[in-house]
Amino acid sequence: MASALAIDGGQPVRTAPFPAWPRPAGDEAAALTKVLDSGQWGSSHGEVVRAFEHEFARYHEAAHCVALCNGTLGLTAALRAVGVGIGDEVVMPAYTFIGSATAALMIGAVPVFADVDPATHLLDPAATEAAISERTAAIMPVHLSGVPCDMDALCEIGRRRGVAIVEDAAQAHGAAWRDRPVGALGQAGVFSFQTSKTMTAGEGGAVVTDAADLAERLYAQANVGRIPGGAWYQHEYVGFNLRLTEFQGAVLREQLRRHPDDLRIRQHNAEQLSDMLTDVAGITLPAVDKRVTAHGRSTFMFRVDGLGGGERKRNFVRALAAEGIPVSGGYTGLHHNAALQDEIAAITSRLGTPRPETDVPATEHVVAESMWLSPQTLLGTDRDLGDIVAAMQKVSQAFPPHDGPGSVLPDAPNRS
Ligand SMILES: *Cc1c(COP(=O)(O)O)cnc(C)c1O
Repeated sequence: MASALAIDGGQPVRTAPFPAWPRPAGDEAAALTKVLDSGQWGSSHGEVVRAFEHEFARYHEAAHCVALCNGTLGLTAALRAVGVGIGDEVVMPAYTFIGSATAALMIGAVPVFADVDPATHLLDPAATEAAISERTAAIMPVHLSGVPCDMDALCEIGRRRGVAIVEDAAQAHGAAWRDRPVGALGQAGVFSFQTSKTMTAGEGGAVVTDAADLAERLYAQANVGRIPGGAWYQHEYVGFNLRLTEFQGAVLREQLRRHPDDLRIRQHNAEQLSDMLTDVAGITLPAVDKRVTAHGRSTFMFRVDGLGGGERKRNFVRALAAEGIPVSGGYTGLHHNAALQDEIAAITSRLGTPRPETDVPATEHVVAESMWLSPQTLLGTDRDLGDIVAAMQKVSQAFPPHDGPGSVLPDAPNRS
């Protein structure tokens, strides 16, 4: 006899909190004080952000890194640096954070949503190729939850069709495809250091690239058009000011120092959790390509088979959260967002270009059935993992497949 769900007044599986995030990973306090005392607070004339850029480039085996204020504007800067302009199209998944699409729209470019692979939940190469038009200037693979997309196929399409590859690696610090870290697999790759990411300064971002000319244009995008080594009032490009402060740089250097160890812990815990979940009926994990040699493990994604989406999914997420497990329902699909659609309509109607069509059945399926555990759930103990499995077992039993044989539970309208 299953015990009552916590959301229905039963005993929660756990009440103890998971490890806090973010947490100081090293000597952040000392590093911050050093910047404070130095009087050098901005990064234009300082050495701290510059040092971080070198260290982060090395971590991702890229020749260059430009650190900047966040991932969203990092994507904008990267798109602009590879030459994406007004009316150009950028092919990306609809199952991603809104920043991927905002990045294109803010420079007058149009996001075109291609479907994901139903097994991996990541941008599907065949759908990507089908979405390319004569206006396509870039493809934006999103390495969701730290899993690299099929970069062999996507880079090959990019080369053959003359389209730039800008990786959205905002969730993929330390991830690798065929032993090569993500970021500089295409023309440029963008990371975020926002609070929920696996290394953070509260806010922040970085773009990496192997190409020196791109690095100069990225620097210019983040530094009001200046070039490295140029004079203060020498503006060779039109660019934003996206600079970080030295304070953020100081925190990021400490976070980066700790990142490989934390990543090993999250990878270990995620592998254990994956093994333990094979016994839980109705829970499926996204497939991971064998060519993924390092999984970034920023979130732990899973699918509840036959969940059915909508209110039923919201109830599942609420029920799991009530058991004491930090869980997010995940993305709702950018093609459903009215603000984005209005902006796309505004740009295409002004330019007289066709409004791209969206047909993404696999994405709808992922939206309906997928969710993820928050990053800090992977930094805990074996006991924590046991609680997660127990809670998922308990809740999934109460949500049998919608259209399956055991489908006796109606939508629970009282659970709001
Ligand atoms: C976090 C995130 C971004 C945006 O990064 P910010 O630093 O929050 O602007 C973009 N894309 C994805 C997939 C993300 O997870």
